[in-house]
Amino acid sequence: MEAVGNGAQSDVMADTPGPDTAQLVAAAERALAPVIADLERACDIPASIWIATESGYPTIWVSNGRSSGYAGTPMDENPEVAKAEMADYVQGQLMDQDIERFWPSCLEHGRGLHAEVREGAAVWFCRGGEHAVAAIGHLGQDEPAG
Ligand SMILES: [Zn+2]
Repeated sequence: MEAVGNGAQSDVMADTPGPDTAQLVAAAERALAPVIADLERACDIPASIWIATESGYPTIWVSNGRSSGYAGTPMDENPEVAKAEMADYVQGQLMDQDIERFWPSCLEHGRGLHAEVREGAAVWFCRGGEHAVAAIGHLGQDEPAG
């Protein structure tokens, strides 16, 4: 008869959604908020966006009012990069759902804008004119009138 262990209990931690998930969701919400603000201010697509956590980490879902789909999973810890990432996810999913409505676009050049990080800040960038149109979260706020 061998002595088995020393009475230690198996200390496998319960696989609960820990603070990591909550933190990831909070970071995703922060990154997503400016994108939602841009949509509400400067887009006529009745889009809704939500964060699902079934898998234990946040995934972004987008609906254009008629159909919905998975847009992406936040990857980057840098808040500005994450913001651009979210904008890209949302834009990509909206385009998947309706290819004819490109959002957002540059009024000056008639080109679609791309979410990019320029000089450390997340912006909507016009590749047609090589200029940043607005910071993500401020689309339609600080463009010159007319
Ligand atoms: Zn432009």
